[in-house]
Amino acid sequence: MIPERLLDTHCHVSAYDDPVAVLGAAEQAGIAVVAITEDPDEYRRLKTRLGRREYVDVAIGLHPLRATTFGPNELARFFRLLPQSTWIGEVGLDFSRAGAGTARAQQKVFDIVLAEASRGHHPLSVHSRGAEKEVIRKLADAEAPAVLHWYTGPLTLVNEAVASGLYFSFNIAMTRSRKFPSLIQAVPRDRVLLETDGPFAKVQGRAAHPHELNDVATALAQAWGMNLGETTRTIIANQNRFLAQS
Ligand SMILES: [Zn+2]
Repeated sequence: MIPERLLDTHCHVSAYDDPVAVLGAAEQAGIAVVAITEDPDEYRRLKTRLGRREYVDVAIGLHPLRATTFGPNELARFFRLLPQSTWIGEVGLDFSRAGAGTARAQQKVFDIVLAEASRGHHPLSVHSRGAEKEVIRKLADAEAPAVLHWYTGPLTLVNEAVASGLYFSFNIAMTRSRKFPSLIQAVPRDRVLLETDGPFAKVQGRAAHPHELNDVATALAQAWGMNLGETTRTIIANQNRFLAQS
């Protein structure tokens, strides 16, 4: 991947009507994309559909809200396909109302992934809704290069995450939330990365797209009191530093 581009570190490319068009628009806009998947089958299908693309990395994932469907076959498939993939994602834990009932299955899957991730070869994009404390602790123990995607947890855990070497990826919906001003002050500038979480994250009711990633950078520039050029250079330096860990 060419590092001089802004990188969308979390985009559910398969969930758009036309993934190829979405990635074409991103490439034209000078944006590189980590195409997140939720299970090994989605990973394999998307890899086949997209072929090799200079500015796209397909990440292999085991989404926490699908944990009860991941038996020995899916886990074996995950580990068989993992050497082809640079990124791991989406993985993590979700103890919100949506995931509380499957917490134990999620922990089992996430622990298996982290045992592998602790070798440090794969950067991770991690979901932590309602389970921030546990996710941060597990990532710290694994010493894995990881990004907390769409962090909505308490500000009091940010320092611990930073001390554990974690990064935070911001999307357009986050920059418009009430929590944003305090979160962006709490996270050091050198730990900030970008994401769309498209098409699930929305801008005025419309799905966010990776070719609009500059809008996130613009919101960060405003929050930081910097111009867009400086902000872009800061984020690209963060991307390079983050990816150099794996
Ligand atoms: Zn996601």
